[in-house]
Amino acid sequence: MNTGRSCIVEVAVPLPLDTTFHYRVPQTLLAAVEPGKRVFVPFGRRKLTAYVLSWAEETASDLKEMIDVLDREPLFTPEELAFYRWAASYYLKPLGEVIKAALPAGINIETRKRFVESGDGSKVAEEQLRGGKRVRSETIYRILPTPPELPPLKGKAVQIHEFLHNTGEASKALICRNFGDSSQQLKKLAGLGLITAERREVYRDPFREEVFHQDTPLTLNENQSLAFGRIADAVSAGKFSPFLLHGVTGSGKTEVYLHIIAHCLGLGKNALVLVPEIALTPQLVRRFKSRFRCGIAILHSGLSAGERYDEWRRIRRGEACIVIGARSAIFAPLGKIGVIVVDEEHEASYKQSEGFTYNARDLALVRGKMGNASVVLGSATPLITTYYAAMEGRLEYLELPERVRNLPLPDARIIDGRGHKGETFLPELVDALADNLSHGGQSLLFLNRRGFATFLVCQDCGHVFRCPNCSVTLTYHRIRQRHFCHFCDFSLPAPSVCPGCGGAEIGLLGRGTERVEEEVKALFPGARVARMDSDTTSGKGGHARILKKLEQGSIDMLIGTQMIAKGHDYPGVTLVGVISADTALNLPDFKSAERTFQLVSQVTGRAGRGDSPGTVLIQSLSPDHYALVRAADHDYKGFYAEEIEFRREAGYPPFTCLATVNLSGVSADTVEKSAEEAARVLRRLRQELKLRTEILGPAPAPMAKIRGRYRRQILLKATTRRELNRLLTRCGMEFRPPPVVRMNMDMDPVDMM
Ligand code: ADP
Ligand code: ZN
Repeated sequence: MNTGRSCIVEVAVPLPLDTTFHYRVPQTLLAAVEPGKRVFVPFGRRKLTAYVLSWAEETASDLKEMIDVLDREPLFTPEELAFYRWAASYYLKPLGEVIKAALPAGINIETRKRFVESGDGSKVAEEQLRGGKRVRSETIYRILPTPPELPPLKGKAVQIHEFLHNTGEASKALICRNFGDSSQQLKKLAGLGLITAERREVYRDPFREEVFHQDTPLTLNENQSLAFGRIADAVSAGKFSPFLLHGVTGSGKTEVYLHIIAHCLGLGKNALVLVPEIALTPQLVRRFKSRFRCGIAILHSGLSAGERYDEWRRIRRGEACIVIGARSAIFAPLGKIGVIVVDEEHEASYKQSEGFTYNARDLALVRGKMGNASVVLGSATPLITTYYAAMEGRLEYLELPERVRNLPLPDARIIDGRGHKGETFLPELVDALADNLSHGGQSLLFLNRRGFATFLVCQDCGHVFRCPNCSVTLTYHRIRQRHFCHFCDFSLPAPSVCPGCGGAEIGLLGRGTERVEEEVKALFPGARVARMDSDTTSGKGGHARILKKLEQGSIDMLIGTQMIAKGHDYPGVTLVGVISADTALNLPDFKSAERTFQLVSQVTGRAGRGDSPGTVLIQSLSPDHYALVRAADHDYKGFYAEEIEFRREAGYPPFTCLATVNLSGVSADTVEKSAEEAARVLRRLRQELKLRTEILGPAPAPMAKIRGRYRRQILLKATTRRELNRLLTRCGMEFRPPPVVRMNMDMDPVDMM
């Protein structure tokens, strides 16, 4: 509240500007303004939405007045603002842009509607315009503790009582769908004090229709209990405590998370669970919803802006005590956080690649520290930097070295592809597929490229078909009869003639999932074959549909990209084939060995999760590479020992900190000149500030052109992040590229392509 002293506020605007601004609050709005709310302000010749940060002192006499207040309740708390500020300063981004990214996009749609529909901007109840629809409410019935003597019930009433006993609560509509008109029985049960009814606002919840049967916690095994004990103690103590939970797939990490969350809820605190987008499947959601009766909010990119906003508001109002979400859920407005779980902490998808380039895995540690919460980083293949931090004692190391129920790890072998040019499957893999099929086992075939042929070349003149906008070759998609660029929307109809010589003989080299699918069908005409990649899973639920078929056993062989590698648990899969492990290995990035190890380990983890042990066959042209050999041996520690030496010698993280300065634009010449200028400024500042930061480049980025924009990169290596931060902050103040060149500074880059 305004103390009466000041009628000036400090605001941030969502524009690439480093500073905040001050506005005068007119008398009529004084009561409505509060830090955390959005306001509408004049800005230059336009009007903008801005975020109120705090009340402020008079700074200048000619301050402009704000026009309106857009929210009835603050959107963020002072604690959340402190977190945003930290992120803005660490990632060198304007505070207003950070706040904008942290808040759900749906908010702005609401505001627009409000302004349009109410015309004068007067306070129409926000809720009534939500998503353009009126808010619906419905009656929810909830089970009450059963008395020792159950009153006599008959027929449908018994069934409904039993149903609510299993599900905890259900809407009247759902009950009536299951049991026909049940009004009388519900009234009776309520009258007997067995259930209660309440009117509740209906949120657009994609899982609302599903019924979750309550399950009971499993008894933890010895290693799980040890891990649980350490983390539970820390959660009880309410001090920031970071953990690495290292356990192979199937070792029971998720079960440990569930136990810790139960413990955390028991203390009256909330839990935040981050998972990679791709792992956010109905399977995982079902597991949480079956275990917990409290409100669970789910945030993922499949939600519409309206659904996302609904979930966000539920969290803000304290109606959810567990939030599960991908990357951006790190900004969920959840209070009283006791534990933050980051599952599959090694996943590159925790990094936002454009605009505000934060890493949710790293921010989890920051948020945990600010909020005195425990943070659990879980993985079968932790990042090299995470494992190093654990060995240095900066994270507590907890290990689940075995699969639960003593299931053996699959038998993984590398098969040498050298001397077999042009063959998709080596004989060993063909035999294994045939054998598995005849025994009724399911097989997964993994390949990291979609489409049919990934390299098109004219047989007459050797011309290679490239994208005119990006520095990549085109990929032929047989089903859609076109050549596509996978980076922009460029495509050519197929078949086409060579633009160089007019020849019509186009060679289709390289292979993608489409071609592998076709070859598998030709090899095994009797098998039920399916493919899972972004071409077959578009649309809502496409992904889940294919996995459901696999689960039901109506697929014998599934070919897919990394989508099939992650997070799913299918007991029927007894054979996994990796068509080529070399693509990731040969990328010009210091993380290529780590990525390959992670990917192969993960694909390997898909086999043998049921009762029969699985087999994994990995085809490679580099069969002796330590990343592959160690992955096949399920030897994380062996891999770590070799990789950490490479990092030490080459001066890469964890022994250095990295940042990149990326410049892009449509004119190659202007981008080059700007990049040179930026590097000059950096080198001068390094001298002035007496820093020892290594400045490499500028050089063309490995992907030198994307969507018509030329890209150059400067790489910075330093021993501390503070040093990088000082250097880049000053650089941001002293160097501005021309308006046609975009500059993005990326702290701790994950993808350097
Ligand atoms: P992870 O997350 O490490 O892959 P999960 O927690 O999903 O492992 O466990 C793998 C499987 O083992 C699941 O089906 C789970 O229900 C089961 N499981 C986990 N812990 C136990 C336990 N203590 N006793 C029996 N089964 C367990
Ligand atoms: Zn392109």
